[in-house]
Amino acid sequence: MTAHAVVLGAGIAGLLAAAALADSAHHVTIVERDQLPDSPSPRRGIPQGPHLHSVLSKGWQTIEELVPGVLDDLVAVGAQVLDDAKLGARMHLQNGPYGFNRTDDLTDPAALAHYLVTRPQLEYVLRRRVTDRSAVTVADGQDVGEFVVCRPGRISGVTVTDRQTGTTRVLDAELIVDASGRATRTPLLLEQLGYPRPPQRTFRARGVYYSQHLAIGDQNAFPERLVLVIPSGGTGRGGLIACERGTWTLTIATRDDDAKRAPESLTDMLTRAESFMPAHVAAAIRDARALSDIAVYRYPGGTWHRYDRAAHLPDGLLVVGDALCCLDPIHGQGITMAARHVHALRQHLGAHGLGNPQAFYRSLTEIIAPVWATNKPPAPRRHTSITERAQRRALRWTQHQILAAAGDDIVITEQLVRIVNMIDSPRRLFDPRILARVAAHHARRALPSRSI
Ligand SMILES: Cc1cc2nc3c(=O)[nH]c(=O)nc-3n(C[C@H](O)[C@H](O)[C@H](O)COP(=O)(O)OP(=O)(O)OC[C@H]3O[C@@H](n4cnc5c(N)ncnc54)[C@H](O)[C@@H]3O)c2cc1C
Repeated sequence: MTAHAVVLGAGIAGLLAAAALADSAHHVTIVERDQLPDSPSPRRGIPQGPHLHSVLSKGWQTIEELVPGVLDDLVAVGAQVLDDAKLGARMHLQNGPYGFNRTDDLTDPAALAHYLVTRPQLEYVLRRRVTDRSAVTVADGQDVGEFVVCRPGRISGVTVTDRQTGTTRVLDAELIVDASGRATRTPLLLEQLGYPRPPQRTFRARGVYYSQHLAIGDQNAFPERLVLVIPSGGTGRGGLIACERGTWTLTIATRDDDAKRAPESLTDMLTRAESFMPAHVAAAIRDARALSDIAVYRYPGGTWHRYDRAAHLPDGLLVVGDALCCLDPIHGQGITMAARHVHALRQHLGAHGLGNPQAFYRSLTEIIAPVWATNKPPAPRRHTSITERAQRRALRWTQHQILAAAGDDIVITEQLVRIVNMIDSPRRLFDPRILARVAAHHARRALPSRSI
């Protein structure tokens, strides 16, 4: 059993990490820069808080596995649950020109269950569950300073400074888990200790989110509780999500070259939403009432700190969540990936104890690499061989055929939605059963035109 573990950051990754560590450590301290509110409200350290958050089904399942009971808590505070066979009518998902079958029944809707809540509410419910554990303490209003090294090759503590009094103290720890998000200072702190800076991979997205919390007059005028639209271009993206206690979040997502047209009022937000929202939903929300100002969030792109490729790493320090790999939020994968990192952390501690950080990052690479590949824009033509280009074209063509067939085939729709929600591996798309249905769909469509 570890005597003391310290988690840096009380966001979703930090709370989940503390829950996982509470099983194997006598004492876990979560260090957080913000003074944490005693209510589910937005805070400075989580600027993404007011924006639309939709967690994938795999994320909900993993969160519940790490913190049992949290889904019931969410329902108790008024989260909406989507878990019925007619999921297609409740969720409007549009990827480029392709939609899904929205009328037929799913065979396994429970596997695709979604809980709809705001990001602050999710964090608050999670924090209550995690800090109820007797082993867990939160030290909020504290800034993380530097790592402390008592013997070579091992981090043995961290300095923290109280933001109000300016007092600095050392927290000794056998394990430190950095879950401090995009602002992580671990690469810099390692460099200061003489370790080579871990390589990093990045992509540019220049994304901007505009979001507003709303009350909608007659929310039963339409069945959808989640609308997510991601066309292939940079504009006309966004979504609408039902949240706890009958409130809603509307998000317009764009690229910052479009920033001159920033929405300045609810009327602007609703007008922009008309460009991507199904017409009947756009009409039903026309009389919505604003419950907040418009929140704006700009992000440059994604970063993956490749600790798996670092030549030397000290024992006693592991990195999870956005601090390890932050993605393009438009795909709604961040919380699910943070939960999967922590799940891997729990397995790693069981198998390797506190040592062998390289093995931890190698196990995560298998989880992160396929998701990273779908986030980053394709490499420019000049950087790819003729064979790669041909393979990519063939893959794209097959994907288009599958997506086009999903519009009226519920079996293909269910398989795609399971893959997007990380329940099944993307390889399942190329299952002969699915490909046969895709071929049958296109053959049916070709028949009438031949008979003309
Ligand atoms: C606009 C936007 C929309 C998103 N939408 C979705 C979505 O729909 N679905 C989804 O799954 N994900 C979404 N994400 C991603 C998701 O929010 C994160 O991936 C997820 O919350 C995991 O974050 P984290 O806990 O690793 O880091 P964070 O949430 O950034 O938490 C880091 C914590 O560390 C604290 N901290 C930072 N530095 C220090 C320091 N020096 N000392 C002490 N404490 C410190 C911060 O105050 C904060 O509390 C979105 C992100 C953005 C930006």
